[in-house]
Amino acid sequence: MDIKITKTTAKKEKPPVSALGFGKHFTDHMFVMDYTEGIGWHDARIIPYGPIEMDPSCMTLHYGQTIFEGLKAYKTPDGSINLFRPYNNMKRINISNDRLCIPQIDEEFAVEAIKELVMIDQDWIPEGEGTSLYIRPFIFGTDNMLGVHPSKTYKFMIILSPVGSYYKDGLAPVKIWVEDDYVRAVKGGMGFAKTAGNYAASLKAQEVSEEKGYSQVLWLDGVERKYIEEVGAMNIFFKIGDEVVTPALNGSILAGITRDSVLKVLQANGYKASEKRISIDEICEAYREGKLEEVFGTGTAAVISPVGELCYKGEKMVINNGEIGKVSQYLYDTITGIQKGTLEDKLDFVVKVK
Ligand SMILES: *Cc1c(COP(=O)(O)O)cnc(C)c1O
Repeated sequence: MDIKITKTTAKKEKPPVSALGFGKHFTDHMFVMDYTEGIGWHDARIIPYGPIEMDPSCMTLHYGQTIFEGLKAYKTPDGSINLFRPYNNMKRINISNDRLCIPQIDEEFAVEAIKELVMIDQDWIPEGEGTSLYIRPFIFGTDNMLGVHPSKTYKFMIILSPVGSYYKDGLAPVKIWVEDDYVRAVKGGMGFAKTAGNYAASLKAQEVSEEKGYSQVLWLDGVERKYIEEVGAMNIFFKIGDEVVTPALNGSILAGITRDSVLKVLQANGYKASEKRISIDEICEAYREGKLEEVFGTGTAAVISPVGELCYKGEKMVINNGEIGKVSQYLYDTITGIQKGTLEDKLDFVVKVK
């Protein structure tokens, strides 16, 4: 399928790097493609960025049949442009699509669409330390009717947002609230899919934890509230003694690409790293024995997010004096170095746009 390109005649002014933040500014163009039952995906196009028209009965507004992805493009010192494991994101789109009864996309074509769009808006890739161009592909049902059924028509869109450094003054550890009342997802539900509903389900607990002075929520399993799941937009890792562990994928955890990259980097560099079922009690016990050396979250937005404090049932666990640990720093430096092209890409993570 060809991508029809219509360039804007009114380029926007780019914000200064200091004002970027996350997901606040959008580039000059966007990718759009439609799906119609009986025809398949059609009319792939890149057009000027702008609002889309929606009927008030558009089913996604009512029933949330929608999925999304998040990845980044980086400018390297030699002027080329890197994507980080984009085929994994497109594979995951189809896993999410399947769960939400959305038709499959052509993964190769979707990566080509990302490359084409990034090339057109490449002047928007910021160059400051820690900055990148965030890429947001998403798909939603567009049938206009209120009956509950899978839509027969869809839109696949990709928008781009220049984003600033997640941490202005180096890696700052976050405080995390271990949630033992609300749950995010259960096995059999949609926890493994990247879909809006999981985020909507998480907002309330997030709000309550923020009132208590915590910036994120660590979710426990939805049945026993005993086993550790993830942080909602990040997966979670613990360094206990000389071993790094993360909860095994179980149907309710999102299979993060950063999570997988961390496991691969650790295993390729002689660290003991594994996936297993981990109870919150084990973590509290390791803490009391002085073995809980590091805790960190992993996700595309922050890459590595060190955790300085966990609070579970009123017990405050301060990790590594609230400072970033050695392994967390090593992982951040290694993965961001590969992304920005300043370290050798031994694990073949990078796909070049140009
Ligand atoms: C996107 C996401 C993550 C992180 O995944 P990455 O591929 O590493 O960005 C973790 N948990 C949830 C629920 C997510 O939606």
